[in-house]
Amino acid sequence: MDSLKQVDREVWQAIQDELERQQFHLELIASENYCTPAVLEVQGSVLTNKYAEGYPNKRYYSGCDNVDVVERLAMERAKRLFGAEHANVQPHSGSQANMAVYFAALTPEHRVLGMDITHGGHLTHGFKKNFSGQIYEAATYGVDRETKLLDYEAIMEKARTFQPDLIIAGASAYSRAIDFAKFREIADDVGALLMVDMAHIAGLIAGKQHPDPVPYADFVTSTTHKTLGGPRGGFILCKAKYAAKIDQKVFPGMQGGPLMHIIAAKAVGFKEALTDGFRERQRQTVANARALAQELMNRGYDVITGGTDNHLFLLDLTNKDISGRDAQGCLSEVGIYVNKNLIPFDERGAFETSGIRVGSAAATTRGMKEQEMVTIGGWIDRVLSAPWDDELKKSVKKEVTDFCASFPVYENGTISAPLLEGLPTEKS
Ligand SMILES: *Cc1c(COP(=O)(O)O)cnc(C)c1O
Repeated sequence: MDSLKQVDREVWQAIQDELERQQFHLELIASENYCTPAVLEVQGSVLTNKYAEGYPNKRYYSGCDNVDVVERLAMERAKRLFGAEHANVQPHSGSQANMAVYFAALTPEHRVLGMDITHGGHLTHGFKKNFSGQIYEAATYGVDRETKLLDYEAIMEKARTFQPDLIIAGASAYSRAIDFAKFREIADDVGALLMVDMAHIAGLIAGKQHPDPVPYADFVTSTTHKTLGGPRGGFILCKAKYAAKIDQKVFPGMQGGPLMHIIAAKAVGFKEALTDGFRERQRQTVANARALAQELMNRGYDVITGGTDNHLFLLDLTNKDISGRDAQGCLSEVGIYVNKNLIPFDERGAFETSGIRVGSAAATTRGMKEQEMVTIGGWIDRVLSAPWDDELKKSVKKEVTDFCASFPVYENGTISAPLLEGLPTEKS
């Protein structure tokens, strides 16, 4: 980054510091991941200079031949990866993908039924301070008080009384497989459309480690940067009959010029996700989340639902003498990043919380396996058992830093071996 260093020392320095943070800290935030050097390169490419309002072959600007190539590649690969009839790869984020579906499927005052944010749903699933809860009449479903699992009977009952026009399946903090066939049944029973938001689990679905929503949903929305491991962005999959409507609501309905450098990076990310190496990494991601949850349970911690089927789990700290906020704080002091999270039926508020959310995607991308998860579980336990003990935190921090040094992330502009394993290589 020599040009940047000459032009703007302050931003250059912040990036150096961030690189160092990503290298020497342990990332367990469930929505984060490391993208590959190829995906990183494309995001810094000249494609950022191009205006391309419209879609391939139907642009409002001249000079779009090259960006048409990359957008077509992204669309084709997304469709192949998920077996979808249509893909729109232009949404700038997961939230905007959701917004475009709402615009396509609903008009204001229509009703939406999504998972409650306090039980693991997302802001865009009907939260009252989000557009989804302001424009539409929203109701929510949650998990069972005893099992903490989605109760499909209860969701059916709620749908029958509320009569939603759109049902949203998908979550940001739910550790068990979601039964999309059941959601389809419920949607059909009440005559609603079904949207599946697979933002968190898209990589697991692409890697065949989670049931597939595409055959059941009218619309599937996602991010590209969580388990999928691509650039920060969103996309939409849908049945062919909704294609024109979705495209029109993304542009000109909601966005202007698409981010062609990001769309190109999505194309590369989808290509990487079509490999056996990617599938293996997703398998390991689930195995790692299970190993870490098990280690913490062995050490006396409560894990919501007693385990996980995906890349994340919620640690319930109610029986420990610490809040989610304080747990997040003292773990970050030793270089371990998690996020505080409400647990279902939490007695604390959203700012304090009784839980933390722990995810395995980023650590798995760095090449960590079950054995490392056991080590990490030990550190988490030691710190949470004595959060006031500065000597202990100092010694754990040193162990974490040394450990991270043996799992290099980005070195000298290239990336470490585990991240490259099984990626496609082109003949030059
Ligand atoms: C992360 C997430 C989103 C939104 O993604 P952004 O790119 O942050 O807007 C949407 N839905 C779910 C379920 C998510 O977890």
